[in-house]
Amino acid sequence: MRYVSTRGEGGVRSFSEILLDGIAPGGGLYVPVEYPSLEIDSLHGLSYPELAAHVLGLFGPERAWGEVTHKTYTKESFRSDEIAPLTELGAGRYLLELSNGPTLAFKDMAMQLLGNLFEEALAETGQTMTVLGATSGDTGGAAEQALRGKKNVQVVMLSPEGRVSPFQAAQMYAIPDANIHNLVVRGVFDECQDIVKALSADETLKKRFSLGAVNSINGARIAAQVVYYVWAALKLDEPADFVVPSGNFGNVLAGWIARRIGAPIRRLIVATNENDVLAEFFSTGVYRPRPAESVAETESPSMDIARASNFERYVFERVGRDPELTCKLLAQPELTLPGEETLLGGSSTKSERRGAMKHFWETHRRLIDPHTAAGVVVGERLATPGVPLVFLETALPCKFEDAVLQATGITPPRPPGFENIEARPQKFTLVEADPEAIQNYLEGITSPVA
Ligand SMILES: *Cc1c(COP(=O)(O)O)cnc(C)c1O
Repeated sequence: MRYVSTRGEGGVRSFSEILLDGIAPGGGLYVPVEYPSLEIDSLHGLSYPELAAHVLGLFGPERAWGEVTHKTYTKESFRSDEIAPLTELGAGRYLLELSNGPTLAFKDMAMQLLGNLFEEALAETGQTMTVLGATSGDTGGAAEQALRGKKNVQVVMLSPEGRVSPFQAAQMYAIPDANIHNLVVRGVFDECQDIVKALSADETLKKRFSLGAVNSINGARIAAQVVYYVWAALKLDEPADFVVPSGNFGNVLAGWIARRIGAPIRRLIVATNENDVLAEFFSTGVYRPRPAESVAETESPSMDIARASNFERYVFERVGRDPELTCKLLAQPELTLPGEETLLGGSSTKSERRGAMKHFWETHRRLIDPHTAAGVVVGERLATPGVPLVFLETALPCKFEDAVLQATGITPPRPPGFENIEARPQKFTLVEADPEAIQNYLEGITSPVA
């Protein structure tokens, strides 16, 4: 399996190369030259790490996967043997639990694997790396948790000031390890993401600081997310609809790929909050990225984005994998795509999400977080009678305690070890939303080559 960039630059790369590279030269995203195909019938009965080894083997056939998937997907890290339990709620509804990893959000599903892959790759080559990332709340914690204390790697994570929940903030800023650097940016998530993209797209800087990426633009991360769609599809007797709380379009893109390679998935539904750039596209056919300052602050901050980075991969597919046309379309203030739409989408409001949290508790006796609730709102709205519907649980409710408490009257319980995390001492540096400020910081922490 080889990879090319959506923008045509950077040649043909291997899985190991795209793992460390993150973003392609010129800012493109890596996609497989062609999609592999699953032999779905041979996969029943595999454990999660076995299935992960199989699926990842399709995307990175040059290496053996069993050891690293067994090391990553353990009961110890994910709190159950199932790793991603598919829980039947009754009445044709299912919850795909993706949030039982170390940071209690689905980001761990890929990031825990990436942490191990990075460590292994750097040990092999003797390289060092600086992972530069931007987070709307969950990626940062997941990446830092996966890479803290690991050799030869530093993490520089940009997060928007005042836009992450207190729990999310504590999960990042209270990590004491010296290789973890939290930069709190005076701006919104999209500005953080733009800075990361700008610095990473500059080949000179990328080399000087050996920059790597763990944002959902990292193709290896998408491959790791394909696994749980295949896992869930295998557990169901008939093809179901899946509804995915979405922001940067990484998670649902993995679902699209899972279906593309042969997982029996019926429809994929993209759910957003009031920041509805994706919902608008999937309901009207017009993609209209917004200015960063128009991002609404919500109780589901990991979906508060004005522009979805991974959408570029979808555009690339929809225009027949033509890099020039992809670039041209993405340079326009708004775009429409040729051919037939293959996903559905819808947005949700705060009161709808609160209503869904309350209703979910009353009918299923389960608390859900406001991101998962966005999926429930949109999923129920677009459900087909008689067709099973799978809600992806993208975070545990205790990460968004206030919102859940206000919606349901119940304080969501915390798993052991998270009792008082907001009280731990925090460590971060406040910076302006300016690439130069970040570059200066990188200069400061990167030792000059002797
Ligand atoms: C990251 C995140 C999302 C959005 O996922 P994308 O892959 O960016 O679309 C939704 N919910 C939660 C809790 C998240 O952390």
